[in-house]
Amino acid sequence: MPLLDNYNNDNIFAKIIRGEMPCHKIYEDEGVLSFLDIFPQSEGHTIVIPKKPSRNLLGTNAKDIGRVFGAVQRISKAINAALNPDGITITQFNGSAAGQTVFHTHVHIIPCYNKKTTISHNEEKSTIADEKLVVLAKQIASKL
Ligand code: AMP
Repeated sequence: MPLLDNYNNDNIFAKIIRGEMPCHKIYEDEGVLSFLDIFPQSEGHTIVIPKKPSRNLLGTNAKDIGRVFGAVQRISKAINAALNPDGITITQFNGSAAGQTVFHTHVHIIPCYNKKTTISHNEEKSTIADEKLVVLAKQIASKL
């Protein structure tokens, strides 16, 4: 699929923005929404998205990119304070050839722990209990 293809309103993140699907919310303002990844690469794996529809970074306006990355920094600090990881990886994929699977622009914040394996983006994802996600979201949000 071309990188600059049309935006499809049926993608999962669009449904989360519209409130048609639940999420474990970490942060929200008028332009940005952040929630936990439900198939996390590590404990505390968080997604940050612009609310305005765009398929990937190439179609996102610079102001919204700025807002999203401002939130990425703020949420990374909250993750650091809440979960005390040994490192934090920030990733962002554009197009299926790059590994993008949800076609609404998003940034991944992935805490890394020396004593635990971080699953890579293209590996089979782990599942995590919903109750654990509830606790993690509260822990991170409390440090914002
Ligand atoms: P990407 O592969 O970069 O497009 O990332 C999409 C991410 O969305 C993956 O890490 C998925 O685990 C995650 N994901 C898929 N469905 C949901 C959902 N309902 N809530 C939160 N994260 C999701």
